[in-house]
Parts: sequence; C-alpha cells; structure tokens
Amino acid sequence: MKYCLFLFFTAFVLLQSKASDLRSDTIDIQSYILKIDLTDFANKSLKAEAEIEIKSLQNNVSSIRLDLLKLIVDSVKFNGTTTLFSYNDTLLTVNFPTALSKNSNAVLQVSYHGKPLQMAGDFGGFYWTNLYAFNIGVSFADDPHSYGRVWFPCFDNFKQRSLYEFQITTKNTHKALCNGILQSEVDFGQNKIWTWQLNQPIPSYLASVAVSQYEILRDTVHGLNGVKEVLLAARANDTTKVKNLFVHLPDAFHIYENLFGAYLWDRVGYCIVPFNAGAMEHATNIAFMQNYLNAYSAECEETMAHELSHHWFGDLVTCDSASEMWLNEGWARYCEKLFLEQFYGDSVYRQSVRTLHEDVLHRTHIRDGEYLPVSGVPSAQTYSSTVYDKGSDMIHTLRYYMGDAAFFSCVKNYLDSFKFKSVSTAQMRDYFSQCSGIDLTAYFNNWIYTKGFTHFSIENLQYETETVGTETRNRAKFTIRQKLNNAPEYFTNVPVVISYFTNENSSQRFTDTVWVNGSCTDHISAYSNLSENIKMVALDFDENLQDAISDFWYEVKDTGLYDFDVARAKLNVQELSEPDLLRIEHNWIHPEPMKDKISGLHLSNRRYWTIDGTWQDSSAIRATATFAYDGTDAGLDADLFSTTEDNLSVLYRPNSETEWQIADSFFVNTQNSISDKKGEIIVNNIQKGQYCFGIWNALLADTSVADADCIFTSINSESLLPDFKLYPNPASQFLQVEIQPNTFNKAKIIDLTGRVVAERIINRSESIIYLQIENIARGMYFVELSNAFGNRRTKTLVVK
Ligand SMILES: [Zn+2]
Repeated sequence: MKYCLFLFFTAFVLLQSKASDLRSDTIDIQSYILKIDLTDFANKSLKAEAEIEIKSLQNNVSSIRLDLLKLIVDSVKFNGTTTLFSYNDTLLTVNFPTALSKNSNAVLQVSYHGKPLQMAGDFGGFYWTNLYAFNIGVSFADDPHSYGRVWFPCFDNFKQRSLYEFQITTKNTHKALCNGILQSEVDFGQNKIWTWQLNQPIPSYLASVAVSQYEILRDTVHGLNGVKEVLLAARANDTTKVKNLFVHLPDAFHIYENLFGAYLWDRVGYCIVPFNAGAMEHATNIAFMQNYLNAYSAECEETMAHELSHHWFGDLVTCDSASEMWLNEGWARYCEKLFLEQFYGDSVYRQSVRTLHEDVLHRTHIRDGEYLPVSGVPSAQTYSSTVYDKGSDMIHTLRYYMGDAAFFSCVKNYLDSFKFKSVSTAQMRDYFSQCSGIDLTAYFNNWIYTKGFTHFSIENLQYETETVGTETRNRAKFTIRQKLNNAPEYFTNVPVVISYFTNENSSQRFTDTVWVNGSCTDHISAYSNLSENIKMVALDFDENLQDAISDFWYEVKDTGLYDFDVARAKLNVQELSEPDLLRIEHNWIHPEPMKDKISGLHLSNRRYWTIDGTWQDSSAIRATATFAYDGTDAGLDADLFSTTEDNLSVLYRPNSETEWQIADSFFVNTQNSISDKKGEIIVNNIQKGQYCFGIWNALLADTSVADADCIFTSINSESLLPDFKLYPNPASQFLQVEIQPNTFNKAKIIDLTGRVVAERIINRSESIIYLQIENIARGMYFVELSNAFGNRRTKTLVVK
C-alpha cells in the first residue's frame, strides 16, 4: 500500500499475531464464499454469511478459532448442521460436533451482521460514506495489521492463503467490485447480486469489496499469459481524470512483466475510493484514493505503478511477518523507481533514487522516532519510512552488489520459486546468494539487519609518478576511512568502486574496486593508462552505495550558477581557465573536531561538505559557494544555534591531514532576521577540500566527538578476499584461473619449499588468466593470488 504523510495515528498493540499464524499449521482454510448484503447505507450496517471450506492438517481437530472483529454472530453451521460457538468481539470459536481427521474437509457457515469497524484516525478498516462502501485490508494501528476480520471471519495473517468467491448484494443503482472476475450480475428489482471469483489464493488482507455508483472503464492488456481484462472503476465525475492519469498503466504492466515474469492474476483493476490516506494493493482490485486524482496528481502515476508492482512483491510473494514488511513495501517503493527507469530513462531513475536517498538520510529517523534496521522493525513501525524508503534505498545498493544481470535474473527466479507463498528476509538472502553465486551475508548484515549508515572518505591522498622511457604516468595512493552514522559497527567487505579522473570528461576515467573493512583500508591504484595524469579520485562516483553521503557533480565548461541539488550547495563559477569536473559531497556525519580547539568556536556535529574537482592550481577557477543553514528544531544545524546567526562561521581545510581554519572570505546572509535561524552563507574563492559550519558561543558546552584512531584492519584474512577458481586441477599443460576483475594484481605458483616457479601480473580488467605449466615438474603446488597490498589468497594445485 501507499500512504500519505498527513496521516497521524497512535499505535496500540495486541499481541496475538503469533498465535494467529500457528493456526494455519492445524487447519487450512481452502476457500471462502462471502455473501454480503451492502444495501443498508442508512445504518452503515452489513448482513452476511461466510461459507468457509476447511481442511484439517492434523488428526483429532475438534475446534477452530476465527478472527472476527466487533460484529454480531447469529449462527454457525458445521456441514449443514447448527453447532455451538462462542464469540468475544475478537475471536469466534466453533466446536465441531465430530473431530476432524487429517486431510478431511468440512464446511462452516457463519451468519453475522453489524457495523464493520473503521477506527478513527487509523489507516484501514471498513469505510462507509453516503456514496461508497469499501474496505482497506490493513490497519496501521491494530495488531495483527492484516484486517480481513473487520468484514468476515478468517485467519487474519500473512501466511494463510485461500480462494475467494464474493456474492455482494447492492442497491440496484450501485455496482460492487471485488477481487477476480465478475461471474454474474443478477437483478432482483430493487437490488442486485454481484458474483466475483478469484482463482488465485490470497491472504485475508488482500480480499476486497468496493460499492458505489461506479462507471467502469474497460480495457485489455496483452500479457505474457494472454489477454488480461483491465477495469478502472470511478464515479462519473472522476472518469476523465482516471483516463488521463492512468494512461501509462499498460506500460507499467509490460515493464513489470518483462522484469519479474508473467502477471499471474486474473485481471488488472483499480477502484477510486474517497479514502484520504493512500492506496491499497488488494489483488486485482486496488483501492486508490480519490485525492491522488486531484491534490496529489503528481504522485498518481508512481502510486499506480507501486500498487501494480505489489502483484509481484506482496500479493504474489508475501512477507512472513509484519517485522519483515520491507519485503512487500521496500520492494514496491523500489519498483516505482524501476518503472521510472524503464519508462523515462536512466537519468530519471538516478535522480529519483538520489532524491529518496537524501530524504532517507535527512528525515527517515525523524519520522520513525529513531534509527531502525530495514528488517526486524517493531510492530508500530511496520509501515514506517524505514520500511518503505530506506528499504527501497538499500535495494538499489543490493542491485549494485549483485550486478544487473544477476540481480534481475535472481529477482525473477525468486518470484517464481516463492509464488503464492510467504517468505522471510533470511530466505531471500539465501535464495539470492545461491542464485547469484555471491555470498550476500555481509550485505544483509550491514545494510538490512543493521540500523544507521556507513560513511567512506579518502585520506592521505598522494600521487606517485614513474617514468617509463619518455612517458611519465602517475598513480594514486590513499586510505579509505570508514565512519559510522548511528550504525553500531563497521560494515564489512564493502566493495567500494574508486574512480580516477584525468580531465572534466566524467566518462574518461578508470576504476578499481576496494574491499573495505574496519576503520581504515589502504589502497594503491594502478598507474594511469590515460594520456594525462590522475587529477581527481572519487569514491562511489556512480552513487551505488547508499552511505551517509549525498553528492552531485557537473562537467563545468562555462561560468555560471550550478545547483548541486542533494549536495546542498550552489556554486557560482565566475572564472574558469579550462573545463573542470566539479563534485560536491554533503556528508551526513560530523566533521572531525579541531585538533587545537579555539575557545568558544563550535563546529557542526552533523555535517560537512567536500568539494573536489579536476582543476590543478588554485588560480584555475574562481567560484563562490552558497550553503543554506537551518537552525530550527527540524533543521540540520539545530545543534549549533543557541545564539544569533551573525555568530556563524565557516571553516575550511584542504584535507583530513590539515587543521580546520576559519575560511578566508565569507558572508552570512541572515536574510529576514538574525534570529529566525534560517539563511545562507556565501563563501568566496572556493578551494578543493572540506567546509563546515561553526558558531561562536562561549557559553555552549563542547559536545564534539573525536573520531576513533585509524586501525588498519588486516585484509589478509582469506575469507575477506574474493574467491577464485582453478581448472583443470590436476593440470598438465596449462592452468586457467578465473577471478573477479579488479581484485588481484599478481598470480604465483609456489612449490612446497616456498620457491616461486611461475609468476605473472594480472591486469585490472582480466577475469580469466592462463598460466603455462608444461615445464613444471609433477607434484603439489600452491597458486597464490595477491592484491596491491600483498594480501594473498591461495589454493592447492596438482601438476600431473
Ligand atoms: Zn505498498
């Protein structure tokens, strides 16, 4: 589902979800026939009979407990005979006249009536206005969140799947829309009965009904499994808007089929309802809020795509438990981005992912009240920004870890393997690992099971030069520093792509991958093979790692104003001697404190900027930077403001090895007033390096936190280096070694006495290398691969 941010609610929790899940181990509910009279708009009351076919999964089963919330039960029949029951507003317990043996079936008929619940302020329940009656199948506040029980007796959990038939009685002027295919529409004078059938099993939260004076826009879409009917239901006033705003629905359908496999449901459908908090992915019959057509029309298309994508993520493969809701909602939010990528192109995808990432770093923990891991959230945070937004953000990084080919092929296979089933995060992790051949344990531990963010930066950057013949070339040598923003421990085995640039052309670069562990990892690049020297080194230039940085870059060829967007800075370039690649990082982490503190001067505890570029000497560019500040409670600089804005300062240092200095020339533009805590700082003559805010206030206590010392974590440990393959083994004439590119730079064959009998350099791009071994004596050897630091990984080789 998708919800609007103006919705507020308080959560209260009833601890019944686990017990509810276990019932499905004893009894399987095979099907429901729900005969519901929804004609009484005056009293907003329903009359119903639920015919429930059950199958016993154990011997000697003598009762069943069904969830049913605050309705009135009139009678219960067991295989046609009236039987005893008890009901306490929450649970309906039916005692069977005869116990069921394993694999035997029975039919329960529950007659009930009453006013179905719609809790004030909650998302979900049964809504009844003068014009509409409809359900929304989940509750944010109640637990379990699954909300079938407000309108029929059921096992209200994410695991139990059943088939559904609906026989809905409406007034003659109304239409009823439910899941599946319309079987019949029978007129009884004043009333009509609408029979719908869904031929795919669903959990109770996906069952749906919507009744109103609907007009139906009919269409078809040609899918991989044949023609599917498309029904868009709206009242006459809304049909034109629906037509216009859903114009790309067929495109979204084809995009998702192409990425995820065939659409396995009977039809495609959306019902417009006067629900003012979002949309809900009832299988084939999505409830879609009327306001999206009006006030929120900009979000309309992404919400359309989001709900459709649930027909793979959520409806087809459902999270096992509420705490793993990211398997439904994080993926559906990410599917919005995939729709944008496939329909509007890569740059629209990138910008959407970038904007969401910046929002996650800025606001997700504020909305949710704390930093949370994506998987394993508490019940009250089931539908939180962490689950939706950070979930989506982290899937972008998963895609990068796996590479597009493996990612999309494993996603498709995963959906096929778990179709019409529920799944856990651990199952997804294991499935993706096995499918791709990439061990994703560290990825899931770091990015999914752990709260907070990691942060990477470059320290001690030096260039080394060598001359070969008449040619001089250089290489970069540096330390990758890992810091943490609210994460409990360092991320491990993170593949950080380093880009080396020689001029303003962002595509003229070479890259390598460093496997980062612990606080500090050293790295030496290869010598530049481009015609110019390396002039800029960037970590994660392509924004694949969703760390505590939001960044933006330009190939600057002219003077003018450049808005660095999520990097929260603007550059006004006044003079430029040659084109430059300019990049700004907004670091969502405290700057390192001053080594020699200046009394009364406080640095930001939250953020700093890194400005980098390919220009070489400080006269090559003249530019001013504008940084906005916000010291209001929700602002990023709230930690600084206990005084007026004219006490603000800007500090600069060229790199992490130097001390912060007050920037040479800057101007605090307090704009409206010096005490509204909002304005901007303009810094003249921008240089490469780091900038942060400070404030003069002698009364403010020093709250700066020193960073941990650099501890070089050995990456000699074999398990931290990528594996490689040798074949044939035993070998006689040649040996083939298969490696991940950009990992090792030397291969050696070593005999049992430690003597090197063969050796060769591995180039960065190589993935298969051949070693001649025909001159090597028979016996046992070690094949040793090493990287730029001499970190080694070995395998045994037999030469025959
Ligand atoms: Zn959703």
